[in-house]
Formats: sequence, structure tokens, C-alpha cells
Amino acid sequence: MTHILHRLIRHDYPRAATARGLYIHDRDGKAYLDASGGAAVSCLGHGHPDVLAAMHAQLDTLAYAHTSFFTTDVAEALADDLIAHAPPGMSHVYLVSGGSEAIEAALKLARQYFVEKGEKQRRHFIARRQSYHGNTLGALAVGGNEWRRKQFAPLLIETHHVSPCFEYRGKRDDETAEQYGQRLADELDAKIRALGPDTVIAFVAETVVGATAGAVPPVPGYFRKVREVCDRHGVLLILDEVMSGMGRTGTLHACTQDGVSPDLMTIAKGLGGGYAAIGAVLVGGKVIDAISAGSGLFQHGHTYIGHPVSCAAALAVQRVIRRDKLLDNVVQQGALLRRRLQERFANHHHVGDIRGRGLFQAIELVADRAEKRPFDPALKLNARIKAEAMARGLLVYPMGGTIDGVHGDHVLLAPPFIVQPQDIETIVERLGGAVDAAI
Ligand code: PLP
Repeated sequence: MTHILHRLIRHDYPRAATARGLYIHDRDGKAYLDASGGAAVSCLGHGHPDVLAAMHAQLDTLAYAHTSFFTTDVAEALADDLIAHAPPGMSHVYLVSGGSEAIEAALKLARQYFVEKGEKQRRHFIARRQSYHGNTLGALAVGGNEWRRKQFAPLLIETHHVSPCFEYRGKRDDETAEQYGQRLADELDAKIRALGPDTVIAFVAETVVGATAGAVPPVPGYFRKVREVCDRHGVLLILDEVMSGMGRTGTLHACTQDGVSPDLMTIAKGLGGGYAAIGAVLVGGKVIDAISAGSGLFQHGHTYIGHPVSCAAALAVQRVIRRDKLLDNVVQQGALLRRRLQERFANHHHVGDIRGRGLFQAIELVADRAEKRPFDPALKLNARIKAEAMARGLLVYPMGGTIDGVHGDHVLLAPPFIVQPQDIETIVERLGGAVDAAI
């Protein structure tokens, strides 16, 4: 009998008891190789001594001080560290407790930017149909996942959605990747013009799409074109790197690989690596300047923003990543993971696509590979694969979803940055077994 309201109320969850490195052990002693880092959270693996020591030391000195009274050394140090390694143009950090909170804060910062500039008529957000930005009402409103939105739809602020950048399903055979990216940028441009350019606040997008579609990178040049469209109309660009950021794709921020800097960027998950609940908004200088020259007050705030112990964890995670040159390992092991997935599923009738960047890779499952025909959603393939993987001692992140009327099933892999070649072999072997058993 449980009194916890679990995600699935009638599901019998195993109890996680201990964890070290890549493995989580349940109460019965079964070991699970954490090949998805939870949901792309655990970037250093579990029980890292440096992170634990930093958190203990912070608890010993100062566990909590409310941010309306104080700032703290550790929060200042984390913000300095994040800005020192941020994409060009970022000047401040707003520290929150997770991804959804970061998105809420980013949406409000964007709106306040225009209010401070005397453009109160700007009220529209544009996002993409294939996106997940979190589960609070503002984040859910910009997200494009119909299944998550539908029962809460009457409570959501009006948001406008355009096509995702999803090469596997969206690019036509008669166009190049470049033309596809241009077509999508033109669609965004047309949407802004239709709404009235001076009514639009921001375009919100995940740099590499995570939960709704499974590690979908943009086609080359897409985000540069999007940036141009936003600049043409004075619309802000908000990039959501809650899942794809903080090293997951091989660079600290995924957007640097696309040659763009956003005006606001959300990060979370890998920021604290699962050691503490922490997220952040990296805020561009022009947004800060407008608010600073205006009211000087960001009208927002939660009790646990800038929590010292969370900041200590995040700072330690960032330092370990740099000291141990773990982003090099992300690139190397990411390439190995991709190659081994391609070898294992090369002739697999039900694997339609293998995609991703760095240690953020996914396979897309289809009923028929040649026709890209999806499985019937009623099969609940994602739940079956998850169960088969767990039975084999493997944690992966399978999701199913419907975008533009087309169902998609994919399995996301996001192992910790410390993963080694022998672990990749185990992951691919167990995943292969789970996929074959589930279909
Ligand atoms: N944005 C993206 C891209 C995400 O993947 C997620 C979570 O999966 C969120 C926002 C919400 O983050 P959180 O679950 O920490 O609220």
C-alpha cells in the first residue's frame, strides 16, 4: 500500500535503494544500467564523490538563505561559471528548481522585456508542434504535445504552433535539407506576419528535440534562419536546452553547434546531474538592460530559487565535467553508440531511423520501415519496451506521441558522460533484446 500519488496510480514500481556510477540497484538487489540518465539527468552517474563532498560542505556552512534578503557565495560562483561558458550575449542567470520553472521564468522575462520597452501589445508566443517544454500551465501551453495538453487545454494561454524541424518525417524527397530549413523559417515568418509582428513576444524551441520525438537535431542552417526571422521582426528567441544542454550533445550548449545565440535559454536536468533540483535561465544582455533601465525588478520568484545546496551540486558537476574532460568522452562514446546502434539495427524491419547528437541518441520504431508506417498507438509499444528493458536490467526512455496526426514511437538513450565502450556494448545488446521481445 502506498500513499504516494505515483505517475501511474496502479503500477507496481520497484523501489530504487542505492546507486553508484552507471547503476541503480533496487531493494531486491537487482542492478539496472542507467542508459537514459533517468530522463537525460544523470550526467556524471550516481554517487560522484566530488559532488557529494561539495554538497556536504555547503550543508555544513549554509543550507538556506532566502533570496529576498541575501545572495550567497555559491550562487554567485555558479552564475559566474555559467556566464563564463555561455553562448555569446548572455549576461545574467536566473536560478530556479527545474526545467518547467525555467520555462515559466523565461516566458515572463520575455513578456516583461517588451512591457519595459513600452510594447505592451506584444502577447503571443509561437512554438512548435513537436515539443515538450514542461508540465506547469505556461510550459504546457507552449509545448506542442497534444496528449499532454488536451485535458488542460481550457486552462492554457493561447499559443501558436508551427511545424517542427523533423527531417525523418517532415522533409520532402524533392527538397534538400537546406530548402527544408528555409521552408520552415518561411512558415515561421508567415506566422509572425499573420499575427502582426508587433504582437509577438518570442519563438520557443528545443535546440535538439527530446521527449516528444527522441533526440531530433535540426537540419543544418535551420536555427540561423530562424534567428534571422526573429531579428527581422524584433521577436525574441528562447531556446529550451533543459534536456539537450549542459554537455549532452558534446558541447556545453547544443546551440553553439548551430551557430546561434538565443535571447533567453533554459537549462536544467544535467545542470545538477540529478544531485539536486536545479534549473536556470540564461538571460541575454538586452533583456537585462531593458528591465534594469525600467522597473529594475523581475516580477517573479519562488522560495527555493538559488538554493545554496543545489548551487553547490551544480557547480561541482560543472567542475568535474571540465576537469575530467568529459565532453570529449561524450563525443567519442556518442559516436560509438551511434555506430553500434546502426550495426545492431541495420536490417531491422522495425527501426526506421537512428538519430541524435553526442550521448543523446534515439531509435524510431515503425511497423514498416520502407513506408515509415507507425505502429498502432493502442499497442503501447513504449510501455512494453520499457518493461522488457527493465527486465533485462536496462533503463531507457521510450516515448510514443502523435504529431500532425502521425504516431511515433521512439527510444531515447542518454547515458552518463562517464560511460565506457564496454557499457555501450551492454546497452546495445540489452536494448536489441528488449526491442525484439516487445514487438
Ligand atoms: N523542457 C524540456 C525540453 C524538457 O525535456 C523538460 C523535461 O523533460 C522540461 C522542459 C521540463 O523540465 P522539468 O521536468 O524539470 O520541469
